[in-house]
Amino acid sequence: MYKQLSEARKKWAQPMPDGLLEGQIILVTGAGAGIGATAARCFASFGANVILLGRTQSKLESVYDQIKQETATDPVVVPYDLANYLDGGCNELLDMIIEHYGRLDGLLHNAGILGDKVPLEHYNLDTWNKVMQINVSAVHALTSAMLPGLRKSTAASVVFTSSSVGRHGRAYWGAYAVSKFAIEGMAQVLADETEQAGIVRVNTLNPGATKTAMRAAAYPNEDPESLQCAEDKMDLYLYLMGKQSIGVTGRQFSSANWEPI
Ligand code: NDP
Repeated sequence: MYKQLSEARKKWAQPMPDGLLEGQIILVTGAGAGIGATAARCFASFGANVILLGRTQSKLESVYDQIKQETATDPVVVPYDLANYLDGGCNELLDMIIEHYGRLDGLLHNAGILGDKVPLEHYNLDTWNKVMQINVSAVHALTSAMLPGLRKSTAASVVFTSSSVGRHGRAYWGAYAVSKFAIEGMAQVLADETEQAGIVRVNTLNPGATKTAMRAAAYPNEDPESLQCAEDKMDLYLYLMGKQSIGVTGRQFSSANWEPI
C-alpha cells in the first residue's frame, strides 16, 4: 500500500525504489498517531525496522500490528512520555537498540504538542514549560542519547519536525512557534557539529497542513477534507531517510515546495 504513496505524484522523474530503506533501523517519536504513525508504517514498507516511541502504549501496539501485517520487518514498541524525560532517561533505550540491532540509522523527531493559541502576554507558564519540554528539551536529550548509536551507522539521518510558524513567527502560536524556532536552531548547531565527521546528517522538515488531530485542534473550523493526508507527504520523509539525501545536511525542507532531487 505505502509503495503506492508516490502514485498521486506521477510527475516525479524519480520514484522511490521499493528497497529504499532495506534493513535500516529508524526511531520514530510520536509513532502512535498522526504523521508519525504514517511515517513509521511507510518506512517499514520500504524495508526499515522501526522503533515506535510514543506515550500511549495501545496506539503504538496498533501501529506495530499494522506493520507486522504489512511487512516482514522487525518493529519494536517503546512506550515513553517525553513530558517526563529525565537526564539519561533513554540510556536503556540506546542499550536495547545496540543489543538488538547494533546501530541506529535514522531518528525522526515527530512527537509534539500544540499548547495554547493565545497572545504571548497571556500565555500560561505551565503550558509554556510543557510545550518546551516535549517539543525542545526532550528532543535535545533524546538526540544526545541516540548519537552514539547513530555514529555506529555508515550514514545516519536525523530529521527534526518543524512548522511554518517555526520559520516565520505568527500571532497567537505562542510556545509552539517558539519551540519550532528552537528546533530549527538545534538542527543548525547539530548539523555544524556533525558535518565534518560526515556520518550523521541533520535536517528540518515542515510537513505543512496535514489532516491530523493536531491540525484539527489548531483549526477547529476548517474542513478536514480540504487537507492533504500524511500519506501524501511521505515522499520527503523517504528522501530524508533514504540514501538519496546522504551528504545533505543543515537544510530546511518543506513538503509544500519540495521537488525530488
Ligand atoms: P498529532 O497530535 O496527530 O500526533 C502527535 C504524536 O506525538 C502523537 O502520536 C502523540 O502521542 C505524540 N506525543 C505527544 N506528546 C507526547 C509525549 N509527551 N511523549 C511521547 N509522544 C507524544 O500531531 P501531528 O501528527 O499533526 O504532528 C506531528 C508533527 O508534525 C508535530 O511535531 C507537529 O508539530 C508537526 N506539524 C504538523 C502539522 C499538521 O498540519 N498536522 C503542520 C506542521 C507541523 P499520543 O497520540 O499518544 O498523544
